[in-house]
Amino acid sequence: MKTNHRIPYLFRVFFNKAIFRINNNPNTIFLSFDDGPYPEYTPAILELLDKFKAKASFFCLGKNVELYPTLFQSILKKGHTVGNHTHSHINGFKSSYKDYSEDVKKASKLIKSKLFRPPYGNISPIRYNKLLKDYKIVFWDVMPGDFTKGITSDQLTANMIKHIKSGSIVVLHDQNIGKQHLLPALNNILQYYSGLGYNFCDLTNC
Ligand SMILES: [Zn+2]
Repeated sequence: MKTNHRIPYLFRVFFNKAIFRINNNPNTIFLSFDDGPYPEYTPAILELLDKFKAKASFFCLGKNVELYPTLFQSILKKGHTVGNHTHSHINGFKSSYKDYSEDVKKASKLIKSKLFRPPYGNISPIRYNKLLKDYKIVFWDVMPGDFTKGITSDQLTANMIKHIKSGSIVVLHDQNIGKQHLLPALNNILQYYSGLGYNFCDLTNC
C-alpha cells in the first residue's frame, strides 16, 4: 500500500522559503492536523495530546471554525498552534487568483495566525510569493496517508515510524471522514516516541 505521500524534491527547490521540516530541534516531532476542527475527532485528539503532554499544530478551515467555534477555542486554550488552511479548502491549481486570495482572507478573520498551509499542497509560485509577505508557509515531510481508503491503524503507525525523523512535520487530518484508525495510531506514535525521549511540539513554540 502506497502510503507516504512525499513532497517532490522540486517543491523544496521552488518553495525554498517554506518550511518542510524543523532541523534544529533534536528529538522533537511536529504533529499537525489539517481540515478541522471537527467534533468527531478534534476533542479526542486534544485529550490524547494532553495525556502525553504533547503540543501540535492545527491547520484549520475557516468554514469549520465558523461551525465549531468552541472547539476551535479549546485548541487554543490548550496551548496548541493554529494555522490558516483557507476557508473552504480551495484547490490552488483549480481556482482563480482572486477567489483563492479571498478564501485565505476570509479564513484569516477567524484564524489569527502567521502560519499557512495550502490545501493539497497545491500552490502556484505567484500565490506563494504573495502569501510569503504575510505568512510562513508550512508543508510537511511525512504524510502517512491517514485518508487512504482501507488503511488500518497498524499500517498507519508503521508508516509514521518508518518515515518520522527528528524534526519531522507530520500531517494527519481531523476532518469529517470515517477514520477509526486515526486515534489508535496517534496513541501508538505518542507512546512510542515518548518512550524514546522525544518531545512533541507545535510550530510556534519550539
Ligand atoms: Zn487539507
